[in-house]
Amino acid sequence: VSQRLQHTLRSGDMVARLGGDEFVLVLSGLQSQEHMLPLVVKIQQSLSQPYFLSGHQLQVTPSIGISMYPKDSLSIHDLLRHADTAMYSVKTGGRNGYSFYDSSMDVTTKERLELESIIRTGLDQQKFFLEYQPQVSGDNQQIFGVEALLRLHGKDGLIPPDTFIPVAEETGQILALGEWVLREACMQAKAWQDMGWKPVVMAVNISAVQLQRIDMVALVSSVLAETGLAARFLELEITERVIMGDSAELIDTLEALRTLGVRLALDDFGTGYSSLSYLKAFPFDVLKIDRSLVQGISTSADDLAITEAVIALGRSMKLEVLAEGVETPEHVRILLEKGCKHMQGYNFSRSLSPAALGKWLMPN
Ligand code: C2E
Ligand code: CA
Ligand code: CA
Repeated sequence: VSQRLQHTLRSGDMVARLGGDEFVLVLSGLQSQEHMLPLVVKIQQSLSQPYFLSGHQLQVTPSIGISMYPKDSLSIHDLLRHADTAMYSVKTGGRNGYSFYDSSMDVTTKERLELESIIRTGLDQQKFFLEYQPQVSGDNQQIFGVEALLRLHGKDGLIPPDTFIPVAEETGQILALGEWVLREACMQAKAWQDMGWKPVVMAVNISAVQLQRIDMVALVSSVLAETGLAARFLELEITERVIMGDSAELIDTLEALRTLGVRLALDDFGTGYSSLSYLKAFPFDVLKIDRSLVQGISTSADDLAITEAVIALGRSMKLEVLAEGVETPEHVRILLEKGCKHMQGYNFSRSLSPAALGKWLMPN
């Protein structure tokens, strides 16, 4: 990367590697943003060419944040900080892979720092808790499982997981958090069983970061031993996006988890691009059809056709198929007609506190 940057720039420009995957370029004599653009494109093109390292072909997608002197600041320190802020805005949803600093971004940075600190202190201060959403058979409304969903108390009400999970993943906080979720969910499942409630499968969401960075097999087996929950009552949900990367190692991990007796579900299916042949290599038990598809089945012929195909695909691969985001009796009717019995969604129940689950799990 350094060499390519050097070759792209002029001799008076400066390239420095700050650490990790962060580089700083100091470019002089550029009057305006428009003058920057051709150079940005050149840098992007140069860095996006494949890299060949010990027989592997690698790809890099740079996120470029830009601050301008003297418009954005007169101080070196602030120029660097602003460029960093602009780079962050690229990482969280930027379109072009580059972004010019703009003072409105500071608010976002401030909110983000606040969120990081809420997450950091949240476990100790018991700001996190789990709710459980029933998974039912659509034909007879019998519950067979629950999905554990993480909740976080913020200053004014709950913070949605779609907001805090990505931040926890970027900062690595998801590792401690994910471990807490796993332990808490297994403890809860065992406690229900000990109270004589109906034994159901406990589905826990696992982040890609957990699979990449820690030994999930060791963690899962120690949590099961610790809590006394039988492995067959634990299901790990892994999103489709996770399996699209480099996968040989991942397949080994998943096989090992399955050897423990744990069930594996492929989450959010239909949102990514996994192909059929690809899927076959992974040892999943359950295919969860994403709610964006399910919600279209009563209004969009395309969504219905895709959902129908996914159901058929799952069955042909001997997978259980579960539809998420089932909101209306019409959804239920169509899914049953297409051969998908297992469902989860507001039509049956939202996520509930452990106590409120009693009405689903208590005998009689
Ligand atoms: P997900 O795994 O797809 O979880 C299902 C989401 O759909 C939940 O949102 C649930 O409340 C929502 N939902 C369920 N039924 C319906 C329905 O009928 N209609 C609609 N519109 N939505 C429905 P929630 O709780 O906001 O969670 C969002 C995402 O956050 C989850 O999506 C999951 O990706 C992530 N997440 C939640 N808890 C954890 C966790 O403990 N660990 C990790 N890594 N991710 C988690
Ligand atoms: Ca899930
Ligand atoms: Ca899902």
